Amino acid sequence: MFTSKQSTITMATETENARALLKTFSTASVISSIGLGIFCFLSDQCLQFSLIQNNYWLRALSDNAVHGVIGLWSWAIVIGLRKKSDCYEVILAGLLSSIIDVDHFLAAGSLSLQAALHLPQRPALHCSTVIPVVAFSMKLAMWILRLKDSWCFLPWMVTISWVSHHVRDGVRHGLWFCPFGNTAPVPYWTYIAITASFPHLCSVLMYVTGTRETMSMSHGIAIDV
Ligand SMILES: [Zn+2]
Repeated sequence: MFTSKQSTITMATETENARALLKTFSTASVISSIGLGIFCFLSDQCLQFSLIQNNYWLRALSDNAVHGVIGLWSWAIVIGLRKKSDCYEVILAGLLSSIIDVDHFLAAGSLSLQAALHLPQRPALHCSTVIPVVAFSMKLAMWILRLKDSWCFLPWMVTISWVSHHVRDGVRHGLWFCPFGNTAPVPYWTYIAITASFPHLCSVLMYVTGTRETMSMSHGIAIDV
């Protein structure tokens, strides 16, 4: 039998869920998405400066930094920034988005940027088929190891961070779905549109799959009516 406290918590959770779903299309998140699209465009313009283009390392580091900012911005759209722990999550998403370029160096077996940029084929973490495999493996591992619900966001964070990275790289190289092959290069404005809208799509999917509910329960329910 529900105590009044339990039913209050249940109602609070439902209210939080309804809010979470509405928040996926809130004014703030939509403005934030448009801001993300504008950031992508402006940063790509800045990367064309000859100062950056003429320096291999500066170009690679700036490009990687843009990947990181897109990853953290995307996750910020999904969760909103309401408390300190949200900032840590957002930074983690940025790191996840940036770090996959390390596989260029791993595949080259060298710290030489020239070697890393001239590989005979794209390195493993740039294969888009890897994303669902890693995300589902993480989910399975968490279920088997009974990891705390507070980590349930991780497969989604990996998905958003890596999809944003792959789609951005895809403008030059296309998307690589090993073992099936490569798509044609992603049209520039398609990349901007996918990057800006993907966090909203994931937010809705997280709501549908119950991840949002688990997240709001494990993060504590913030009701500020
Ligand atoms: Zn890359």
